[in-house]
Amino acid sequence: MNLSERDAKVVWHPYTQMLTADLPVAIVRGEGAYLYDEQGNAYLDAIASWWTNTHGHAHPHLASAISRQAQTLEHCIFAGFTHAPAVELAERLLAKLPNNQARVFYSDNGSTAVEVALKMTFQYWHNQGKPRRRVLAFENAYHGDTFGAMSVGDRSPFSAPFNPFLFEVSFLPLPTRDNFEAVKQVLLQHLQTEDVASFIFEPLVQGTAGMLIYEPALLDEIIRLCHEYGTLAIADEVMTGFGRTGKLFANEYLSEQIDLVCLSKGLTGGFMPLGITTCTTRIYEAFLSEDRYKTFFHGHSYTGNPLACAVALASLDLVDLPAFSANIARISAQHEAFAKRLAGHAKVKEIRHLGTIIAVEIDAGNTSYFNSLRDRLYQFFLQRFLLMRPLGNVVYLLPPYCITDSDLERCYTAIVESLEICV
Ligand SMILES: *Cc1c(COP(=O)(O)O)cnc(C)c1O
Repeated sequence: MNLSERDAKVVWHPYTQMLTADLPVAIVRGEGAYLYDEQGNAYLDAIASWWTNTHGHAHPHLASAISRQAQTLEHCIFAGFTHAPAVELAERLLAKLPNNQARVFYSDNGSTAVEVALKMTFQYWHNQGKPRRRVLAFENAYHGDTFGAMSVGDRSPFSAPFNPFLFEVSFLPLPTRDNFEAVKQVLLQHLQTEDVASFIFEPLVQGTAGMLIYEPALLDEIIRLCHEYGTLAIADEVMTGFGRTGKLFANEYLSEQIDLVCLSKGLTGGFMPLGITTCTTRIYEAFLSEDRYKTFFHGHSYTGNPLACAVALASLDLVDLPAFSANIARISAQHEAFAKRLAGHAKVKEIRHLGTIIAVEIDAGNTSYFNSLRDRLYQFFLQRFLLMRPLGNVVYLLPPYCITDSDLERCYTAIVESLEICV
């Protein structure tokens, strides 16, 4: 039995209907933008392995950082104890985030980074004796798969089995120039209850929704109104962080101050699971008290894991090199040229582009994730050894920044060809 066949007997995969799924592709090694399978086929990882990889697979600088750290300190408890990788990472990240961000709280992944932010904001109000019970989020939002993170995400066929157990959230339509006055009215109705603890959003790009892009000026205005009513703004930068949108963080497009930031995915360059929630001094201070019950009682066994912190630091070394922003600018320019090339294509409903992200929404009538078009597109690309996972009728690229121009061209050509199989 090869690895794929052995897998099929014992493993349960995420987001996979195990009854009908093809055998998984067994990857034996990665290098740069490529993943190699058992037979030696090279797959171009055009979606950075679920949006995590930034500098390429098995990057030697990151690999050796983990190796060195593993031989020094692999892990230790993070309550009552600390270590250099966690301290240094907090220092270096805070220097890159908006300067009102003052404290770093560690967890394991994007969903936990969101859970931590939500719990911090609820307890921020609780500790002041002014409990607030509501969260505001955007329609079509995705913030993760744990219960709190699911609660602030869109109610969809994916969440249906769990909907009865999710806490109630007020959803706002994604703002456009056309609907903005109406969105503001809905927003104000919620804010005026003075019961809205926080507003959580994916800044500028709603990833899972199909790379929906919206204007920073409209988001700024929403945050400004939130602040008028004390509502805290949580920027979920789990996907947008570390250069995805063209700037290091999407919040750099905003003028309004945000109160909390959630990071994961690109944080470790895609090497290790790690989540970070940062907050302002004002939020942090709401937990400082002689009263022990005002403590933030949250933690995970692997909080602040030294291996994950060490590789995140190594990733920041690369972020600081000129090649990092040069690559992002190069990919963005290529995407833009492709968008122009594709504009007006009969099968294309919309092309959305920001930084290293480009999404082509195919005009396919009434489609959803469950429509067979999505599966046919996935197979179409896979047969060409391109790893792409269309979101319903939205084909997108979100590559590691080391991807070459000729590999980008391979993706663009395949996208154009794929439009032919769309009826
Ligand atoms: C992926 C994602 C999450 C969840 O992160 P996980 O590490 O998969 O739990 C949260 N928010 C956003 C915006 C994401 O894209």
